[in-house]
Amino acid sequence: MGTIMCSRCGNNTFELERVSVNDDYDRQVVVRCSSCKLNVGVADVNSPQSIRQTQLAQNAAIKRIAASLKVSLTGIDLPS
Ligand SMILES: [Zn+2]
Repeated sequence: MGTIMCSRCGNNTFELERVSVNDDYDRQVVVRCSSCKLNVGVADVNSPQSIRQTQLAQNAAIKRIAASLKVSLTGIDLPS
């Protein structure tokens, strides 16, 4: 199993940050590197499917990072 790393700094931990765009009715969640704060994904938290969309956005971000680093995700369950 490979380790997922940030494509900019090589860090392997990520965090979620809730951000407001314009006002509180337009909140979104950003997935970002916990070290250099590079944003790797974003999700709308206002829609009924927000939790699922956030999960899928994170999975897509992980897959993009893994692909850019040529890291295998074989055996890791990441629904898309
Ligand atoms: Zn980073």
